[in-house]
Amino acid sequence: MPELSTAAVHTMTNKSWSLQQCCDAYATAGFGGVSVWRNVIEPIGITEASKIVRASGLKVPALVRGGFFPAFESTLRQAALDDNQRCIDEAAEIGAEMVVLVVGAVVGMPLAEARKQVNEGLSNVIDYAAKNKIKLAIEPLHPMYAADRSCINRMQEARHACEAIASPWLGIAVDVYHVWWDPDLEAEIALAGEQKTLFGFHVCDWRPTPRDLLNDRVLMGAGCIDIKHIRACVERAGFEGLNEIEIFSNEKWATDQEDYLKDIAKAYQQHV
Ligand code: ZN
Repeated sequence: MPELSTAAVHTMTNKSWSLQQCCDAYATAGFGGVSVWRNVIEPIGITEASKIVRASGLKVPALVRGGFFPAFESTLRQAALDDNQRCIDEAAEIGAEMVVLVVGAVVGMPLAEARKQVNEGLSNVIDYAAKNKIKLAIEPLHPMYAADRSCINRMQEARHACEAIASPWLGIAVDVYHVWWDPDLEAEIALAGEQKTLFGFHVCDWRPTPRDLLNDRVLMGAGCIDIKHIRACVERAGFEGLNEIEIFSNEKWATDQEDYLKDIAKAYQQHV
């Protein structure tokens, strides 16, 4: 049974809570870290956010999220680069280890072209990330998001992007929700271990018949993903970071968040 101190919770998991509420509740419950979504920084500003996070004593595996590189117009691609730089600045301010990247996709743009633009975007921000000592973690997204969120869907495509840049500051965030079905998952996790690109590990579970494409994730153990097996794979590959709990759920967001966090803690200990 993993200790809660081996887990970090993504603030989006308790969507109605402020950053202060998240940090207080996670630290009190005994979790080891918090991964911060930018929407909880926005209302208070980065200076205040940094104070809250640092005072909590929690580790911060990730700031979520940057990316969204591809666009038809060059002005939009430049705006994305600027935003990714701001994201790296914010990550440095709150002491996050990495920025999670949802790389982007554009309706009407061939995926191969989108991937090319992602590579260009990554090569334009990687030096800034390195200078600020912030890792960038490409999160492959389930192919149901290939139209408009991510042209990188399999572990292999994330690896190709990493190999193209070949920087110690660029790696992969493995989210079980997105890649549990990937026939190459085990082999790619092992390769990521060898290539030192295994930066993040996100857990939740997959409802066999999702009612919503985004916000119907379920608690670990309530779905069909063999999370313990995937965790064993990432650990065998040398992953030593915190396991990040990241659950978007309209159903759970409508419940009492204190009670919900207790259920999350139990589910983590029993099913991760
Ligand atoms: Zn994730």
